[in-house]
Amino acid sequence: MFSLIDTLFETQELDNNQLKQLIELEDNSPQEEYLFKQADKKRKEIYGIDIYIRGLIEISNYCKNNCLYCGIRCSNLNVERYRLSREEILECAKYGYSLGFRTFVMQGGEDLHYSDDEVCKIVSQIKEQYPDCAVTLSLGEKDKSTYQAYFNAGADRYLLRHETAIEEHYKLLHPSAMKLSKRKQCLFDLKEIGFQVGSGFMVGSPFQTTDNIIADLRFLQELQPEMIGIGPFIPHKETPFKDKAQGDLHKTLRLVAILRLLFPYSLIPSTTALGSIAENGRELGLQVGANVVMPNLSPTDVRKLYNLYNNKAFIGKEAVEGLSDLKLQTQALGYRIVTERGDALTWEDKR
Ligand code: SAH
Repeated sequence: MFSLIDTLFETQELDNNQLKQLIELEDNSPQEEYLFKQADKKRKEIYGIDIYIRGLIEISNYCKNNCLYCGIRCSNLNVERYRLSREEILECAKYGYSLGFRTFVMQGGEDLHYSDDEVCKIVSQIKEQYPDCAVTLSLGEKDKSTYQAYFNAGADRYLLRHETAIEEHYKLLHPSAMKLSKRKQCLFDLKEIGFQVGSGFMVGSPFQTTDNIIADLRFLQELQPEMIGIGPFIPHKETPFKDKAQGDLHKTLRLVAILRLLFPYSLIPSTTALGSIAENGRELGLQVGANVVMPNLSPTDVRKLYNLYNNKAFIGKEAVEGLSDLKLQTQALGYRIVTERGDALTWEDKR
């Protein structure tokens, strides 16, 4: 097993059977510890001890979709819905800029209220006011022409998790109106347009098998995204998956480590979901290969309303107000929070 991890470290390649062995390693085993150690070594080789920060602005919890796992699905009538105005979003960016953020992520449900033109106006105004910042969008599936318009307005990056790469599994997590083929098409469109693209999946989503996860890793190898976000599935009590088991902490950490070794140059966030299932979840993620954190920059009164899953961490270290604590904590672990844009490096940059 140790030599298998060495092979992955050296070659970024393993066959399916070998990947399965790594994904299913025993919690706290010496082999798991070695996997974590090698992932941290790889991260330091490429990105040093730097941790990039992104200010997350949750612009709307209205959503036309009905994903079975998600708390803001349209058929959940118990959600107090909100959306931020252009002025409010710009206000968040202003506050974030003053705190040192140089990337703003606008994420939301698929809310048709925002026209293409409105999103473009918001993006171009942020870029105009803060030319040294990157703007990331995470607004779901759109036509290629819409993505192109966002890009032309100045958006740099786009996050869209593929959620699961296997058709049968995708159908168990989404209503029949949503198609895996469409999701994948969106991701390839985004790449073609020139966005830095982020994708990913939940760990421990209902009905997920190890073979599903391997297919997710293979799909990511095909897509070659600049960013990869994963986090544990966490049930939300007003969804059909309310009684399903939560994703496992150690399995999520093993996958963060495997991702770092398979995709040495990718930007990997230690996600809010990871920080929500364990007190030190986010720190653990950073110690096994993750190099990005996305503190919550939304107006405080809406943070609890953007509720994809129960027990979401949105105070303390997960919020921008906790940035100085986060700095100290990560420093104690031997890392350094930096305020540069933090674009993905490539093989060329390192040569
Ligand atoms: N509407 C946007 C943003 C989705 S929210 C889009 O479609 O891309 C961001 C991510 O949260 C989702 O991609 C999903 O992987 C994750 N998520 C949703 N519900 C979750 C849950 N119950 N537990 C853990 N993660 C969840």
